[in-house]
Amino acid sequence: SDHSLEYPTQPSEMNWGTIYPTYFDSTTGAHRAGHETKNVEFADVGCGFGGLLMQLAPLFPDTLMLGLEIRVHVTQYVHDKIVALRLAAQRGRIEDSDPQPQPEASSTEATDEDLDEATQNAQLVEAAHLAPGSYDNVGVLRANGMKFLPNFFTKHQLSKLFFLFPDPHFKSRKHKARIISPTLLAEYAYVLRPGGIVYIITDVRELYDWMDKHLGQHPLFKRLDKDGPELKDDPCVEAVYTATEEGKKVERNRGDKWFSAFLRLPDPTQ
Ligand code: SAM
Repeated sequence: SDHSLEYPTQPSEMNWGTIYPTYFDSTTGAHRAGHETKNVEFADVGCGFGGLLMQLAPLFPDTLMLGLEIRVHVTQYVHDKIVALRLAAQRGRIEDSDPQPQPEASSTEATDEDLDEATQNAQLVEAAHLAPGSYDNVGVLRANGMKFLPNFFTKHQLSKLFFLFPDPHFKSRKHKARIISPTLLAEYAYVLRPGGIVYIITDVRELYDWMDKHLGQHPLFKRLDKDGPELKDDPCVEAVYTATEEGKKVERNRGDKWFSAFLRLPDPTQ
């Protein structure tokens, strides 16, 4: 239940340093020098095992991205995977014997012991067919994405929001548990900036119709054409279809995938 969930009372209370130590001081939470404008921009709500984030992290190396996941052990799995990928990346950098100076010392600096472990972790990276990257820009947080987003993110902070294969909650009396609803859309619109994009995908037709309808009816969102200028060269679309664990499962079972993306429109002028 939410009783055990910790969340900041407002975004300024959040210490991002525990999640992104390259960019924030993990003790004070302050931005590190040279990274003053860096903030989380992509949020994957109900990220599950994190397949989307792992795929996007090397594609958008300068963008901080966050998975929100409510299940404890799943969040822990994603956390461990990120740590492993970072260590493997550090090991790669050191083995390159590149004379270039390393980035300033941070709490992610690897020890010899870490590096032994990283040898095994490197196999994990290879096995996962992931692109090389630092993975310093990817993080995960145990949180209820339906409740506390404005506690974590300021108005217009995010440029992308992902809702990939969310739980369907079939029964009508459970519809309020759905991750897309008129009330929640107001919150998503608040944290998403004008020009930002919401991506939804599911293998459950009824849920798709519901999500697509509610987003389509909302005055701050506009349905995007998959071949239109915003999406035709957007690598996120392909990742949304194929990168997540649930998406792969649907593929194995030869199920259908229903996709939509919506543009966050500018706020109406007062
Ligand atoms: N997006 C992932 C994928 O495509 O593989 C996971 C899909 S899984 C069917 C739905 C995930 O959403 C589960 O991991 C579940 O624990 C998580 N979840 C459900 N409600 C949530 C909430 N309110 N906040 C955060 N995560 C939630």
